[in-house]
Amino acid sequence: MTETAQLQYSDIEQAAARIKGAAHRTPVLTSRTANAMAGAELFFKAENLQRMGAFKFRGACNAIARFTDEQKRAGVLTYSSGNHAQAIALSASLMGIKAAIIMPQDAPELKVRATKGYGGEVILYDRYKENREEIGARLAKERGMTLIPPYDHPDVICGQGTAAKELIEDAGQLDLLLVPLGGGGLLAGCALAAATLSPSCKVIGVEPEAGNDGQQSLRSGQIVDIPVPQTIADGAQTTHLGQHNFAVIQRFVDDIVTVSDEQLKATMRFFAERMKIVVEPTGCLAAAAALHGVVPVAGKRVGILISGGNVDLARFAQLVAG
Ligand SMILES: *Cc1c(COP(=O)(O)O)cnc(C)c1O
Repeated sequence: MTETAQLQYSDIEQAAARIKGAAHRTPVLTSRTANAMAGAELFFKAENLQRMGAFKFRGACNAIARFTDEQKRAGVLTYSSGNHAQAIALSASLMGIKAAIIMPQDAPELKVRATKGYGGEVILYDRYKENREEIGARLAKERGMTLIPPYDHPDVICGQGTAAKELIEDAGQLDLLLVPLGGGGLLAGCALAAATLSPSCKVIGVEPEAGNDGQQSLRSGQIVDIPVPQTIADGAQTTHLGQHNFAVIQRFVDDIVTVSDEQLKATMRFFAERMKIVVEPTGCLAAAAALHGVVPVAGKRVGILISGGNVDLARFAQLVAG
C-alpha cells in the first residue's frame, strides 16, 4: 500500500499495467444529440460496460493484484452490498483466491446472488443489531484475511484512476472532467490522472442533492459527516468521504456540485432512448450535471464518467417511466 500523500501519476500507470487483460478498456462514446443539447463536445467513458457492470472492478483488481503470497493464501474480505462486493468477488475468483463479503441480511437478493455467482462467500449480518466493522475485524483476525474497503484505500484510488487515464488517452486533452462522487475513490483517482495527462483540465465531482457531504467537505476544508442520504443514486449513499480520498480531492479537484433525482431519471431516459445504453442512477450523476446546465459546459471539451449500469430491469422501467 502506498501512502496517500505520495500518490502520483506513476502509481496509476502501475495500476493500469496490473489490471491490463483483466479489466476491459471500455469505449468512449459520443452523441451528436448530447453535444447539441449541451453546446459542447462530450466524451462519455462507458464504465457501465466494464466487467461486472461498473468501474469498481478496476480498484478491486488493482488492490488484490498487489497481495503478497501470504495474503493470497488467506484471501480478501470486504463489507459492501453494492458494486464493490461483486468487484471483489470477481477479482478474487480470477486470481484464484478466497473472498468473504459481509452484507446486511436485508440486502437485495439480486446482489447477494450476483456476489455468490462470482464465487464470493457471503456472510450476512443484522444491520440493526450488529456492527460490520467489528465483524470484519474479527474475521480478518481469525482468518488472516486482508480487508479491502470500497474507496478509502490508495490502491483502490489508483485502480479507479485508470478509467480517466484511458478516457484522456482516447479523447485527447479536455477542458473539463465530470465524475460521480460517493466516498471518493473514483473522483480522487480520476483527478490524479487528469492532473498529469491533461493539466489544464478542471475536475468536478458530482453527488446527489440529498447528500452534499463532499461539497461541504471541500468547501470547509474538513470531512463532513451526514445521515444516510435518501436518493435513487444508491452507489452514492455514503455519509462521508474517505481520509485518503479527501487528501487527494483537496489537492486536485476544483469543485463539487449536486444534481437532483429528477435530473438523474431524465438522464437515464436520455441514455436509453438516444444512446441505447442502460445506466444505473448513480452512473448518471456526471452526465446529468452536463446535460442539465448544472455546470457551464458550452464550447468546451468535456469528459464524462458513466460509472455503472447495474440496475434490475423492473426498477429501471419504473425509474425511466416516472
Ligand atoms: C461506488 C460507485 C460510485 C461512487 O464511487 P466512489 O468511489 O465511492 O466515490 C459511483 N457510481 C457507481 C455506479 C458506483 O458503484
